[in-house]
Amino acid sequence: MATNMIAEELRALVEVDTKKRAQESAIASARLRLKEKKDSLATIADKISDSKDAFTDARKTVDRLELDAKSMREEEKDRRGKLKVATKGSVCNHLQHELQEIESKELELENNLIQAWQTLEEMEKASNQTQNEATEQTTTGHNTIKKLEENIEKLDQELKTIMVERNEKINNLNEDWHKRYESMAATVSDPIVPIVNEMCSSCYYHATAQDAAQLRKGKILACKSCYRLLYLEAPPEETLPVGKEGKDTKKD
Ligand SMILES: [Zn+2]
Repeated sequence: MATNMIAEELRALVEVDTKKRAQESAIASARLRLKEKKDSLATIADKISDSKDAFTDARKTVDRLELDAKSMREEEKDRRGKLKVATKGSVCNHLQHELQEIESKELELENNLIQAWQTLEEMEKASNQTQNEATEQTTTGHNTIKKLEENIEKLDQELKTIMVERNEKINNLNEDWHKRYESMAATVSDPIVPIVNEMCSSCYYHATAQDAAQLRKGKILACKSCYRLLYLEAPPEETLPVGKEGKDTKKD
């Protein structure tokens, strides 16, 4: 294969690798967005569960206070019954004293109950509001997740196509060039660059007169400073049409 053809193949490989990297980063950011969306849905679910718990707790407090109030009413009824039939003055005094205590407890319970009912109403309202908001957010969230997953699948498919293209390009190269390319491509995104004004267009290292002469002959050399592969871009009028290189022409 003529060297200018090799340079062309290598540049084509750089192009494919540029596409590959762009595709991989698109996939990575889509995956990140998917993860963020899923996390935010989990947060919404936690919020719903928290507001439900708060409502349940408020409900329990009301129930407990209602029970306490009921038993106080029973105690009150009991003492009143006893007071009706009591004849002894000391017993009457004792029962009346007990009744006063019960009544003051009932009053306290009643106040607590009013408070508890108020809290329960607030919790119910808050819980409903959270659920309404969450339902909307969850629906949009699920739609976004579905779209993101579809997009990732599409991007993955496109990456597969790029990889097929990349393998084709690699098959066009001999093993030696392939190895040189891969070792450079592992460290830089532009493993092959043109030489401009006898300088490496990446690091501006000036080629020696000898190297410049070799490059003019169409050779590919490694830059002595940054080790990128260097080639001289042929002026358009000197570029041979593809297929006029005899033995290098690939069969279709
Ligand atoms: Zn260089």
